[in-house]
Amino acid sequence: MNPARTLQALPSSKATTFRRNLLAWYDAHRRDLPWRASRDPYRVWLSEIMLQQTRVAAVMEHYREFLRRFPAVGKLAAAREASVLAAWSGLGYYRRARMLRTAAKVIVREHGGTFPASQEGLRALPGVGRYTAAAIASIAFGEPVAAVDGNVERVLQRVSGQRLAGEELWQTANHLLAAKRPGDFNQAMMELGAVVCTPRAPACLTCPVVELCATRGELAATTKPAPQKKLALHYALNYRNRNNRGDDRDGDDRDGDDRDDDRGDGEVFLVQRPRNASLMPGMWELPELARTNGAAVPSFTLRHSITVTDYTVGVWRAAAPSNVPGKWIPVLRLGHVALTGLARKILRQAGILRKESRRVAPARV
Ligand code: SF4
Repeated sequence: MNPARTLQALPSSKATTFRRNLLAWYDAHRRDLPWRASRDPYRVWLSEIMLQQTRVAAVMEHYREFLRRFPAVGKLAAAREASVLAAWSGLGYYRRARMLRTAAKVIVREHGGTFPASQEGLRALPGVGRYTAAAIASIAFGEPVAAVDGNVERVLQRVSGQRLAGEELWQTANHLLAAKRPGDFNQAMMELGAVVCTPRAPACLTCPVVELCATRGELAATTKPAPQKKLALHYALNYRNRNNRGDDRDGDDRDGDDRDDDRGDGEVFLVQRPRNASLMPGMWELPELARTNGAAVPSFTLRHSITVTDYTVGVWRAAAPSNVPGKWIPVLRLGHVALTGLARKILRQAGILRKESRRVAPARV
């Protein structure tokens, strides 16, 4: 940590102008996002956890439905894990959902159902790190603490013209913070990074702090980003009409002809990931194929990206390998099942799962 670098980044006289310009811009231009309608710590917490590593548009799809299902921390604490995972399905990084439920239990058991009202108290909750604790404390309780996420880091580096890192970032953010409106200030910094000071081609001409910015554009990169890995995956899509329930795991009725059927009457064969898997334990997915049953081309392909890997996914209308244990799941139950994000994507592309089928309830499969 180097305090001199922090102050050099933006001296106090400029810091005053920075926070005034930023807040005026935020008041006039902030996006109307559902979680901004309330300072209820439960809602702030939920939105912050959902927004970690997930796009705003995807969170908006899930946020209201999750609140409809679990409107208060007590409801979440009392819910079965399968219900919470089903409501979370499609957001990815399912460890967040498990930690959310665990933290809800701690809040109910150790705090009488009331959120700790300080950054320090919040940080003691499972799944709540320094950023999340600062965001909740400032937005819900008005505690004057800065929150530094990826968007804020980028803004601070460009404004200062320095590759600030670690404690320097937090110190600079706290130096700039508007102590009387810490929650709005933190959200304004994130908003600026999300919609103006974007990773590529920042819109400097419309930026409220352009006159104070050292770079007015992208900070020169010192290292090249790591290239994305490319991998291929193959899955068996095994669908049958429930009126024709012969054991068709040999693939008899899984060609394109059944696409005109009423999908609500059908079933799809899924397997559950091991409970001790490091990724997405206990979630349901299509059986993976090591090979492609000799067919020349898959029924369809799609692309799926997870962190540093781009997958090309081949989906084959074929039976699962006979040694794969799994279950036939009625299509009407799919919205209640904790599906992996990729399984949901495949079933939607196949026309089996429709968007409106994601009503959530405890999974009993
Ligand atoms: Fe980002 Fe450009 Fe604004 Fe600087 S002037 S903070 S680079 S948008």
